[in-house]
Amino acid sequence: MSASDLSNSWCQVDHTHDPDLKSWVASANETGTDFPIQNLPLGMYRPMGSLIAFRPGVAIGDLVFDLIRAAEENVLSTDVAAIVRACEGEGLNPLMAAGASLRQALRHELVSALRADGEPGLAKRLAGALHPMDEVEMSLPCRINGYTDFYTGIHHATAVGKLFRPDNPLLPNYKWVPIGYHGRTSSIGVSGQSVRRPLGQTKAPDAETPTFGPSSRLDYELEVGALVSQGNELGEPFGIEDAERHLFGIVLLNDWSARDVQAWEYQPLGPFLAKNFASTISPWVVTSEALAPFRQAFKRQRSDPAPLPYLDGQANRQLGAIGIKLEVHLQTAAMRERGDQAVKLMQSNFADSYWTVAQMLTHHVSNGCNLQPGDLLGSGTQSGPDAGQGGSLLELTQGGKHAISLPNGEQRSFLQDGDSVSIVGFCEAAGRRRIGFGACVGTVLPSPVKPHKGD
Ligand code: MN
Repeated sequence: MSASDLSNSWCQVDHTHDPDLKSWVASANETGTDFPIQNLPLGMYRPMGSLIAFRPGVAIGDLVFDLIRAAEENVLSTDVAAIVRACEGEGLNPLMAAGASLRQALRHELVSALRADGEPGLAKRLAGALHPMDEVEMSLPCRINGYTDFYTGIHHATAVGKLFRPDNPLLPNYKWVPIGYHGRTSSIGVSGQSVRRPLGQTKAPDAETPTFGPSSRLDYELEVGALVSQGNELGEPFGIEDAERHLFGIVLLNDWSARDVQAWEYQPLGPFLAKNFASTISPWVVTSEALAPFRQAFKRQRSDPAPLPYLDGQANRQLGAIGIKLEVHLQTAAMRERGDQAVKLMQSNFADSYWTVAQMLTHHVSNGCNLQPGDLLGSGTQSGPDAGQGGSLLELTQGGKHAISLPNGEQRSFLQDGDSVSIVGFCEAAGRRRIGFGACVGTVLPSPVKPHKGD
């Protein structure tokens, strides 16, 4: 395979995507697994209860395959093994910085090592490199230096806009600019995160003055997160035709939001303390290469303006969208106590996003801003076009006015303490093996004790 072929690995479907490909890891061949051999998402793990440095691993069936052990067993090439070793204790950043060719080489070498019809004796040799997934602890997949949250879900933007401006829900810039704001990285956590209900300043519409206390309108936002591979130099933007090469992979993202704090603080500079108290991502990064079979044409309504030339390109038009089915599940404390399953609140599809990942990346660097390996770009809330497809409680309850009823009789306008929110995502296409993202779970804890009042 030539170097130029490798640079287009994001849209190449090859033998690693063959739906008939099987692994000697039996659980990877089960129908409905998120992690068949066609997926091979990357993350950072260590055995539960140990204090060793987190190590790079790949999810296969219900097991984690240790990449450093893989290097020791000589199933990785020299270059790939060196980069994998550099990730130990550091996160996936060295692999991100190494770019698409090396990432694709790793994928091919992993398929050779894990396929059922591969080299005889490999299963026995590599058995010690596997850990049951429920016996490992995951960390954030990488060091995230920058976090930007976009607003690409047009159905979300329209539904939320309607709550404030019924006649004119979308602001005039929406269809021209991929809107975003800079978020905070210090409070990004991995699935399993507990989120303290934030304290904040709020003002009821009929109150004369604001008050300070626990948020009473705590919400989630269903998003996907794009993690950056190679970055760009400050002052040297890349064009949209090169943008996909800067995508490492995709995770699920819950952008927790305090709606009452947000409503009072957001004008004129945008979200601040309503958003930066916690953001949760899923631990397994589904690589750009694994997503290749689920690429779709980027569609716009005929009545919508064409993107400006710097946000338009042939590859983006043909394959810029990614079909990812997304769902939000809720389990309250009462449900958990009784052993009730989480209830599905909604579903949507990332292919309905108004802007593609390539457009987000391109717009972000268009002014010369430099992206770095491991930077996280949130998609904004991904709501579907229909009623009941809101990607946040704000939408599902129409601003808290119409509480939703849960099967056990409980009602929710916004999140209560003890509520556990789980985002799941998966890709399906005709003639393709289904792949999934695992889960992005977070649980609401009560507010911290109020700080003592000033004199
Ligand atoms: Mn958001």
